[in-house]
Amino acid sequence: MAKHKKQFAIIGLGRFGSSVAKFLSEMGYEVLAIDDNAERVQDLVNVVTHAVSADSTDEEAMRALGIRNFDVVVVAIGENIQASILTTLILKDLGVGKIIVKAQNELHGKVLNKIGADKVVFPERDMGLRVAHHLISPNIMEHIELSSDYSIVEMTAPSAMRGKNLRQLDIRAKYQCNVLAVKRDGEMNISFPADEPLCRDDVLVIVGRNEQLTRLEQVYA
Ligand code: ATP
Ligand code: ATP
Ligand code: CA
Repeated sequence: MAKHKKQFAIIGLGRFGSSVAKFLSEMGYEVLAIDDNAERVQDLVNVVTHAVSADSTDEEAMRALGIRNFDVVVVAIGENIQASILTTLILKDLGVGKIIVKAQNELHGKVLNKIGADKVVFPERDMGLRVAHHLISPNIMEHIELSSDYSIVEMTAPSAMRGKNLRQLDIRAKYQCNVLAVKRDGEMNISFPADEPLCRDDVLVIVGRNEQLTRLEQVYA
């Protein structure tokens, strides 16, 4: 049996929604892009499979588009919180299998969870946190929150680490953090030898508790 290729609908074609739509199309997925602003729809007509102008708070319009046949629907309406909530409710009522919604703030996110959104994302907040982490510690290139207590960080080898190996740095024992991988010359090495000295421009991918990672960042800042 041929594997069913997932079909996506993206509602709200601001910066976030249109990037999601474009990326999925580039990856070869079927994408229906919806916005009530005809200009925004026009911008994506040649990019996605179907781009239509419709008001997502109009249940009949959503039904007519066959929205419940899509595997995943992304609601990327930001500013208009009321439209975002109503749209999510309508999608839920129509029986959409998976609904992912962009939230404007924590309260909006709480409401979305309560009414049954399968996943709530906070792109502005998350990007803000990443930029802040990078500003506090310029060696930190990426920061991925795994839970409220644990994260993965990508850290450029600070000068104090260069020339030393993982055994000498004793990161696991001193900071209870594990170096998952070392990126060198664009190559990701996921079993980096403990006796290999670190070089300038090496990027360490480290998992650990937030406090321990912060301690590590500060010691080597
Ligand atoms: P971004 O930050 O991603 O650029 P935003 O969070 O500022 O976007 P808006 O620009 O407010 O979000 O909304 C995104 C899009 O959602 C807009 O293009 C807007 O026309 C569309 N939109 C808002 N309400 C509806 C609706 N009821 N039906 C369809 N589209 C809508
Ligand atoms: P352990 O007793 O921790 O298992 P080991 O002697 O079996 O250590 P080695 O590979 O020799 O293993 O590592 C010695 C020390 O080097 C570890 O205790 C740890 O602090 C550090 N180390 C080695 N590899 C890593 C890594 N991937 N991430 C973090 N620290 C490491
Ligand atoms: Ca915005």
